[in-house]
This record gives sequence, structure tokens and C-alpha cells, in this order.
Amino acid sequence: MILREALRQAEARISAHNIPDARIEAELLLMHALGIHRAELYARLGESLPSGAENHFRALIERRVRREPAAYILGRHEFYGIELHVDPRVLIPRPETELLVETALDFLRRLPQEPPRLVGDVGTGSGAVAIALALHLPGAHIYAIDASPEAIDVARLNCDRHGVGHRVELLVGDLLGPLPCPVDLIVANLPYVKDADIPQLMPEIRDFEPVAALSGGADGLDKVRRLLADAPSRLLPHGAVMLEIGLGQADEATSLARKHFRQGKIDLLRDFAGIERVLQVVT
Ligand code: GLN
Repeated sequence: MILREALRQAEARISAHNIPDARIEAELLLMHALGIHRAELYARLGESLPSGAENHFRALIERRVRREPAAYILGRHEFYGIELHVDPRVLIPRPETELLVETALDFLRRLPQEPPRLVGDVGTGSGAVAIALALHLPGAHIYAIDASPEAIDVARLNCDRHGVGHRVELLVGDLLGPLPCPVDLIVANLPYVKDADIPQLMPEIRDFEPVAALSGGADGLDKVRRLLADAPSRLLPHGAVMLEIGLGQADEATSLARKHFRQGKIDLLRDFAGIERVLQVVT
């Protein structure tokens, strides 16, 4: 079979399962099966698909129609222009979390004191936020914490690939527990999905992503609540906390922040969809 036809069939099979962007997904899977980039795929559309690659491609399509996320099948995902290894040990970094990185970079760049900038990234997962901060701020030293030792293994792989292993210290433990010293900034994309909402999530998320990275208790704010209670004692003077939150959590998250930071300046930042996505508290 020629590549063009194989792609056409794959696209039809994927879209029959109501998966959006079926053409792009089919192309990514075929590029993966052949080990080539898009330009080469387009140059070779009229060539025939070697039988080994054809079997591999079919197996990849079957995984996708069983709703395994493409990022896990490909073993990689791009976040903030950075390519990360991802697998079911970690949440796939979301585009809205780039707002957390931008907000954090903005704050850290404006700090008047000399580097290093000390940062705690809580719930680092794949290391996405920590690595983005380390790559964009050479003067940053980041403590990247996760409760899952398996996630920390993935973060270590990604830190090594991006050459930031010496500035991102990976620590296993509960929330701010492992932080060895006060920091300028605490940044966190904690699990914030209400437990009752988990069964309604898309199958890609519900059936494949680590539930520990999603589940935030009855109102989704269990981890946020505990982190905000502990944060004041973990910050340097003029430090800040930035937390990703979910749709509808802004009011409750703001009042939690106010309870623990009586004098702090509290702001909510909206993502590209207009949702209040980042809670920022500057002391
Ligand atoms: N935004 C994520 C989702 O798609 C949730 C991430 C989180 O809980 N931190 O469900």
C-alpha cells in the first residue's frame, strides 16, 4: 500500500471513533512508525509502505482508537517549545499551564535581588514547569517536588535531556515537605479535579493519565488548601505563590489565599480560553 492510501485509511478509522484532528493524528502515527519527520512523509506519499512499518502503523492506530493519548504513544509532548518525554507515569503537560510558566518568569525577572532565584515547583510530574523555568532563567535554582517517585524518574530523564540536571533538584515527597530552604517563588500545578468529575473526563484522561495527578478531593482544592496553609513559612520576604486552578475555583482559591496571606496581593490570571487559571499571591 502506498503511504497516501495508508494515511487515508488511518484517518477514516480514527475519525470513525470520534477522535478530533484525525488526519493530523494519522500523520503523527505514520511518521512515528517510519521514524521520519513531516517533510519526508510528504515527499514520500507516493511510495509504498514497507510491511514491517505497516504492521507497526496498524498497531499504533489500534492504540489510538482505544483512546490512548497520542503523546503516550509517541512518548513525547511539546510544552513551552520544549520537547518532553511523557508516559503514563506523568500527566501530559497542558497548553494552559504555559500561563503558569509565563507568570512565574515575569515575576522572577523583576525581582530586584541578585540571582540565584530559588523556586519550588510542587507536583512537577514530567518536570515541564521546572525545566521551562530553568531554560529561560539561567540564574534559577529549582526544587522540583513530586509525591510519585515514578514521576520523578520521568522528570530526571527530561532534566538530563535538556541539560538542567544541575539546577533542578528533584525531591520525592508530600507538597512542600521536602523543600530544604525558603524560596522566592512556589509554583504548582497540583491535582485540582473534583473527585466526582473524574468518571466524566475524556477517556484519554480518565483511562490513561495518573489519577493521582488529577484528583483533588471533594471540591478539587484539597491539595491547594494544604499548600496555601504551609506556603507562608516557606517563602523568602517578597516571595510569591502561583497555582494553577480549574474552572469555577477562583473564588474559593482566592479566599483560601486571603486566609493565609492577610497582607498579600492576590490576582487571578485568565488563560487563552478566558478561564481564571492562575492564582498569584505576592507577599
Ligand atoms: N487541566 C487538567 C485536565 O485536563 C487537570 C490538571 C490538574 O488537575 N492539575 O483535566
